[in-house]
Amino acid sequence: MSHYDVIVIGAGAAGLMCAITAGNRGRNVLVLDHANKAGKKILMSGGGRCNFTNMYSEPENFISHNPHFCKSALARYTQWDFIALVDKHGIPYHEKKLGQLFCDNKASDILTMLLTECDDAGAKIQLNTSVEQIEKTEQGFALNAGNKPLTCESLVIATGALSIPTMGATGFGYDVARQFGHSILSTRAGLVPFVITNQLKPLCEALSGSSVDTTVSCNGQTFRENILFTHRGISGPAILQISSYWREGDEIEINLLPDFNAESWLAEEQSGRPNAELRTVLSDVFTKKMATLFCENWFESKPMKQYTPAELEKVAAQLSEWKITPSGTEGYRTAEVTIGGVDTNELSSKTMMSKKVEGLYFIGEVVDVTGWLGGFNFSWSWSSGHAAGESV
Ligand code: FAD
Repeated sequence: MSHYDVIVIGAGAAGLMCAITAGNRGRNVLVLDHANKAGKKILMSGGGRCNFTNMYSEPENFISHNPHFCKSALARYTQWDFIALVDKHGIPYHEKKLGQLFCDNKASDILTMLLTECDDAGAKIQLNTSVEQIEKTEQGFALNAGNKPLTCESLVIATGALSIPTMGATGFGYDVARQFGHSILSTRAGLVPFVITNQLKPLCEALSGSSVDTTVSCNGQTFRENILFTHRGISGPAILQISSYWREGDEIEINLLPDFNAESWLAEEQSGRPNAELRTVLSDVFTKKMATLFCENWFESKPMKQYTPAELEKVAAQLSEWKITPSGTEGYRTAEVTIGGVDTNELSSKTMMSKKVEGLYFIGEVVDVTGWLGGFNFSWSWSSGHAAGESV
């Protein structure tokens, strides 16, 4: 029987950070993962360049039933701490936009850094290993992993959540939580494209591949970013962001003219170029294809002077308050994250330890804390992993 101070299940972002932090404290750490490679999601993140954190990370960028829960961990291991680690390893990076930091080269730079740090901290990683059984003992935990019995003092669940099942995502973390009497707050796909199957589908299909700068709102939240039309519906950063706030049946509102007051702009255009057709006016701010398709779908394109004030008001409302009820989302198949998870009321916000079972920890995406798009989800993985690593 092998004994460790700490066993971490899940060699993803949160699990590796926890192992590094605990190992650096002199703890004897084993990380187990059922996959054949550590950190697969890190490798596929940020389009292969890993948006590893956000310079402007604040607790407001996280969604949770308890919005205060993330504050302590985020404050004790900040984006600047992670950036210092990246700098220490000489990894080149850049700000893409809105504080989002990406590797200049490859996401594997971040994974290599974490694996090097694990190695330096003496944390052992064992892949291709499924954990079959976990039991609480007087001294800690007894596990059956890959048909071998293991014991540990502290057990950290860092198995992620349900997004991208083809990458090995499982509900394992939730099962362990339930086994030890924890509540799981209902889960749903987040940062995920919308599917449109209603009368809007032909417009989305026709515009597939086109993107436009917008503000998108739903349930009191607004994001300013591009939307992207797809064959299946709509996507793009603004849509991914708002999808985390959207529930089945909700309406979203898109402002296609976020920089203007649509009504006064159209009125100015009407007096400035009365003979220009609406389509021509719209193609000054949208692509020609978009202007044409919007006119075909929504308005009669005629010379501006022929529009009554009431008609122009309708055109303005359509463009600045376009209301869509998505038919659904693409689900966990393409979602970047899972909203919901292990109830934070039953965890210590300082250490991530269970309030029910001494020595049991939950970190990363399995917990009911979900970041916005833009590097915030890794921020949560680093911060929660570090918090647990300091305590185990
Ligand atoms: P994971 O990284 O999912 O790691 C969990 C680990 O546990 C995996 O290695 C898995 O194999 C293992 N595991 C699961 N079940 C078991 C089991 N039963 N037994 C043993 N091991 C198990 N976030 C950002 O901040 N920036 C980005 O650029 C970004 N890009 C993304 C792109 C994509 C396509 C996706 C899907 C997500 C992206 N995210 C991004 C989100 C980010 O990847 C996750 O929030 C983050 O990886 C969560 O870390 P984690 O350690 O909790 O879980």
